[in-house]
Amino acid sequence: LLRARGLRLSFGFTEALRGIHVDVHAGEVMAITGPSGSGKSTLLHVLAGVLVPDHGTVEYKQVRLTALDEAGRSRLRLGEFGFVFQYGQLLPDLSAVDNVTIPLLLAGTKRREALRRAEVWLERLGVAEHSGKLPAQLSGGQAQRVAVARALATEPAVLFADEPTGSLDSLAAENVMLALTEAARATGTTVVLITHDPRTAAYADRELIVRDGQITFGGPTG
Ligand code: ATP
Ligand code: MG
Repeated sequence: LLRARGLRLSFGFTEALRGIHVDVHAGEVMAITGPSGSGKSTLLHVLAGVLVPDHGTVEYKQVRLTALDEAGRSRLRLGEFGFVFQYGQLLPDLSAVDNVTIPLLLAGTKRREALRRAEVWLERLGVAEHSGKLPAQLSGGQAQRVAVARALATEPAVLFADEPTGSLDSLAAENVMLALTEAARATGTTVVLITHDPRTAAYADRELIVRDGQITFGGPTG
């Protein structure tokens, strides 16, 4: 689904990516792990067309993402990709269900249909009973599940997640990962996620370890 070849990217004198090849297959859950500063977030951003590499190519469904201009990449991201980050991503003045419906309404979905889909996704992520709460009234794990529901409700082909469980304790992290991977597998959504935590990575089908801007291991998880 995604094919990256020979990725190199420097920030000034820092070589964040030093010759990376990656294939992401349709429907798989892939975890990217590795030490802090190794280039994980940079790699995710290049795969998602947020950053353009200095060298190398990224192809998504035969479309050469790295040859598109910013407007083209932005259209592709909106149409095909979903994103989840570590924290602070829910709109604080909106209830959980409104946080999930907003992107759907912006994409032109009718209010009734948007509400129906939001309820389905909150249910799938196990937070349906919290749909009326504001983000400040949710636990960290519940908030992350709402953020995952919001990303998946737009039915992206690929979900990119940078440390989606990074702010959680290990029990909450495992609950979020279980809900995320079950929902992704049920809908055939491809997932590329970054994690520091080996227990979180174990929920993926495949793991890539990045060190100093290079991939040092790629293979199935335990
Ligand atoms: P962490 O686990 O701490 O999130 P990471 O593996 O995600 O780390 P990256 O954020 O990809 O690491 O950063 C890789 C290297 O590139 C680091 O040395 C970082 O300082 C540098 N870097 C990343 N983004 C920028 C930027 N916008 N400007 C300058 N340097 C950057
Ligand atoms: Mg990072």
